[in-house]
Amino acid sequence: MSARPLPEDARTVVVGAGIMGLSIAYNLARFGAERVLVLDGGYLCGGASGRNGGGVRAQWSSETNIRLMRRSIALCDEFATKMRINVWFRRSGYLFLARSDERARQLEASCALQNEHGLSTRILDPTGIKKLVPQLDVSRVVAASHNPDDGVVFPWPFVWGYAREAQRLGVELHTHTRVLDLETEGERITGVVTDRGRVRAERVICAAGAWSPELTRKVGVELPSRPHRHEICSTEPLKPFLEPFVGDLGTGLYFSQSMRGEIVGGISNEHVPEGLDQASSLRFLALYARSLTRAMPILGGVRVLRQWSGCYDLTPDGNPLVGPVDEVPNLYLASGFMGHGFMMAPIMGELYARHLLFGEEPELFERWNLRRYAQGNLLSETMILG
Ligand SMILES: Cc1cc2nc3c(=O)[nH]c(=O)nc-3n(C[C@H](O)[C@H](O)[C@H](O)COP(=O)(O)OP(=O)(O)OC[C@H]3O[C@@H](n4cnc5c(N)ncnc54)[C@H](O)[C@@H]3O)c2cc1C
Repeated sequence: MSARPLPEDARTVVVGAGIMGLSIAYNLARFGAERVLVLDGGYLCGGASGRNGGGVRAQWSSETNIRLMRRSIALCDEFATKMRINVWFRRSGYLFLARSDERARQLEASCALQNEHGLSTRILDPTGIKKLVPQLDVSRVVAASHNPDDGVVFPWPFVWGYAREAQRLGVELHTHTRVLDLETEGERITGVVTDRGRVRAERVICAAGAWSPELTRKVGVELPSRPHRHEICSTEPLKPFLEPFVGDLGTGLYFSQSMRGEIVGGISNEHVPEGLDQASSLRFLALYARSLTRAMPILGGVRVLRQWSGCYDLTPDGNPLVGPVDEVPNLYLASGFMGHGFMMAPIMGELYARHLLFGEEPELFERWNLRRYAQGNLLSETMILG
């Protein structure tokens, strides 16, 4: 891919070939955009998009996220047929556990909002939870919310599918091509300087995940998001027995069973310092194993086969950074997606392409704009894992 020379100029340069950059590039090309160039300093799936748990859900506490994710799940549903690649999408539901009355009340309020928006979410008591996952220890669980239509995908083919189809539609994709600098004239970006040469650019989309603050700093734009390592692991394959993706919003523990039978999961670790670190630790394994086996004692003897990590791009209010930057009008952000950017990429790509090509102004480009931090309009979302 990177053996070809870079073009001299591009209408749109997307920095980052993770799921977000590729979904935007694919959708731009799908709606007829030309001269779209995607650059990535590493390899496909090298960032968070190749390192995540593949969870896809519409259970959220804010109306924006519920609406967006309903559409994103519909796009996931048709992805395999449309993109001609198997993404192992399994709609086996998400089960969120509450271990306190306060958390249970939050889940109930979110469930009511989700029902208003057409989701089949319902609240389960410990007996109902046991029916769904008999192996769960519910002795300290107060309630849970369950939406049978949420699911899990295998992230890699999702990334490959977007990359292949985007290129088929004319997008130029260069991996192993790092953007070192952004050139400007006045307040506008005029080009990107890479380790393989320079490209003139009419607009730049920053889809660099946790590396985004590094990139925008080149033009003096300070993002409020910060990178944080998040670890995850998978076990030896087991005979299928676990239906839903299980999440505990209190501890940040989550796990699901992949279609190959592995238990894939992780847990929040507030002691991880800020930084672009993708290492693995024994401390995580101990923390995860303790929490997992407390929740599912039956998994006590299961062997871990693989452990890895990736970077969350954490924003102070738990919501992404999307849309144009006021100070640099041809710089667009698609970053700050925390631990849920994978599931949002299908709908974000579509909205972005419509915004750039047809001037559509989705309300969330205002709501999630960087300027909310200067204006003090911070948002809230309580159903965040990790
Ligand atoms: C362990 C873990 C579990 C997760 N679980 C889930 C989940 O279950 N569901 C979910 O929806 N989300 C999950 N996420 C979050 C999700 O993976 C991310 O939000 C999403 O992948 C972000 O996609 P992205 O394209 O913005 O970033 P990335 O995939 O990180 O891509 C950014 C790309 O930009 C490139 N880049 C950076 N700087 C430059 C530069 N200067 N020049 C060129 N290229 C550059 C990088 O090489 C990288 O490939 C998880 C994340 C982790 C780490």
